[in-house]
Amino acid sequence: MNGEFVDEKDARISVFDHGLLYGDGVFEGLRSYGGRIFKLEEHVERLYRSAQAISLKIPVSHKKMHGIICDTVRENNLKDSYIRVVVTRGIGDLGLDPRKCPKPSIFVIASKIQLYPEEYYEKGLTVVTVATRRNLTESLDPAIKSLNYLNNILAKIEATNAGAMEGLLLNKEGYVAECTGENVFVVYGNVLATPPVSSGALPGVTRGVVITLTREMGFKVDERNLTRYDLYNADECFLTGTAAEIIPVSTLDGRIIGSGVAGPRTVEIRAAFRKLALEDGYPVYS
Ligand code: PMP
Repeated sequence: MNGEFVDEKDARISVFDHGLLYGDGVFEGLRSYGGRIFKLEEHVERLYRSAQAISLKIPVSHKKMHGIICDTVRENNLKDSYIRVVVTRGIGDLGLDPRKCPKPSIFVIASKIQLYPEEYYEKGLTVVTVATRRNLTESLDPAIKSLNYLNNILAKIEATNAGAMEGLLLNKEGYVAECTGENVFVVYGNVLATPPVSSGALPGVTRGVVITLTREMGFKVDERNLTRYDLYNADECFLTGTAAEIIPVSTLDGRIIGSGVAGPRTVEIRAAFRKLALEDGYPVYS
């Protein structure tokens, strides 16, 4: 926290921190596999892009931020970890004016995460379309990974209340944007499609990896607007995210997608992704 290692019980943030008072801040979620941080540079880049978009100057260099992230994983002696990097506007007064916050707060948590039990990587997730629309690009651009996640949380609550495991958010035009914490892909034969970032999707790091990887595997990948109809009629549908990795969708709004369990391409892509994640990351211990 702000340049020091502190025990979890002492990792405290001020009630005057605008990250807490107003959700004024940005964050990243990364993962390490076998002591290697996957796509470290991409995540750090996105953190700085999010910060730039909210006029938040992160008071350390990209390089220093790399070091802080690696040191935190090392300090916790973790090989396989989930890492949360948070930069808030910092401590101010009770007004929302960011100029009252002279120093951003930075903290990094190295821990573990399992979003979904292992069996769902076979069975697939039940997903429903929620009534809550994805934030408008012209209001709070979903490309900004900010601490203001109520849009996603409201969608998650709706999905849970409907008895589903995930919620699909549409944008204001009614096209598919993304799920509450994952990007969406559909598979038709050897063609993959995913909504463009301009549809209201986060430019997911996993999404980027899947696009590159599947092109190398010989798939054609389109970034285009998708409707619910496109998802209902896909051969396969899967979600991507750092925490969830690649997870199949079994049903959407009660329609069975494809075979209703992980399809062969999803299984193949997930295997290629896991192989890359184990080999490709930035080594923390050497
Ligand atoms: N969309 C949202 C809203 C997210 O919060 C995330 C990250 N959890 C994703 C998509 C997936 O992005 P990434 O692959 O970079 O984790």
